[in-house]
Amino acid sequence: MKKRIVAVFLLCLLLMSACVDSNATVSMKEVQFVMSTVVSLDIRDHASEELMNKMMDRLEEIDVLMSLQKKGSDIDRVNEAKGEITEVNPSTYHVIEKAIEYSELTDRAFDPSIGLLVNLWGIGTETARLPSPEEIETARMTSGLENIELLGNNQLRLHGDTQVDIGAIAKGFAADEMVRIAKEAGVKSAIFNLGGNVYVLGSKGTSPFRVGIQNPFSDRDDYLGIIDVKDTSVVTSGNYERFFFDDAGKRYHHILDPKTGYPAENGLAGVTVVCSNSTMADALSTAIYVMGLEKGLAFIEATEEAEALFVTNTRDIHVSSGLRSFFTLVDDTFRIVE
Ligand code: ADP
Ligand code: MG
Repeated sequence: MKKRIVAVFLLCLLLMSACVDSNATVSMKEVQFVMSTVVSLDIRDHASEELMNKMMDRLEEIDVLMSLQKKGSDIDRVNEAKGEITEVNPSTYHVIEKAIEYSELTDRAFDPSIGLLVNLWGIGTETARLPSPEEIETARMTSGLENIELLGNNQLRLHGDTQVDIGAIAKGFAADEMVRIAKEAGVKSAIFNLGGNVYVLGSKGTSPFRVGIQNPFSDRDDYLGIIDVKDTSVVTSGNYERFFFDDAGKRYHHILDPKTGYPAENGLAGVTVVCSNSTMADALSTAIYVMGLEKGLAFIEATEEAEALFVTNTRDIHVSSGLRSFFTLVDDTFRIVE
């Protein structure tokens, strides 16, 4: 009798746990165009339609809040406020705070106060053009972190003609949000790819995830190498992502050097940053691209939380010391420089 009660009890427990965690092994993948890029959410356990929708909705929401170009976004309202105090969504406020922090950390190689300059060039939009040196200088002079006044309680005010752009960090924040939402739903293993802004959550069974590093000289999805990683973000910034050609056929890309006002030109085709915080990885990949190889490598070696891989225009690859044993070159038209 006693045995039977125990058996029934165990069976109930088993059924209960199956009910509670019925989607433990459910995997799902969804690809959508959102935040002006192709986003893929590949969830390997605990997936559900509800979770997928929640995550995609969150991406839409972040885009609507943080886009520089979308009329009525938080960023648009702040930029249009003409010195008046604006209240923004707590997420926007948080990302602006982080942007300022990373700007200070990178000696302004990353600079969220260059909104006017970004709009002037319009790279990645239909109105992209080569501005005159005077226009560039005028726009460049409006930047300055001191012109972004954070007042607490999600309120801020801009001074002078400064305009804010958090486009170089918003996708990183969005990736961190994907991880937060997925973890809350019990997900242990997933890959999120927000237009080259990758986050691998957990591992692939007992193995690390293999993240391909895009060949910056190829139009197709060719990888030059692979990084084996777990539980981290892998973010790439490069001159091949968004660009336009002027009448003389010269190419201009979308990562601007805040100190010159022109696209950063220092021999790099791309920089990949590996860091467990994707907001930080996104800010640093942009910043390090602007810094260039020498300064960027020194910066990353001095930054404990992050590692990086640099690809030069002459196909040389430089890997920071903490990343070397995790990187495998697969395309021998490139060479690793020790
Ligand atoms: P992507 O968004 O293509 O992945 P990035 O993360 O490098 O690339 O962000 C580039 C975007 O950030 C530009 O389109 C522009 O809006 C903005 N931006 C360009 N240069 C800088 C800079 N030096 N600091 C901060 N933001 C920048
Ligand atoms: Mg970035």
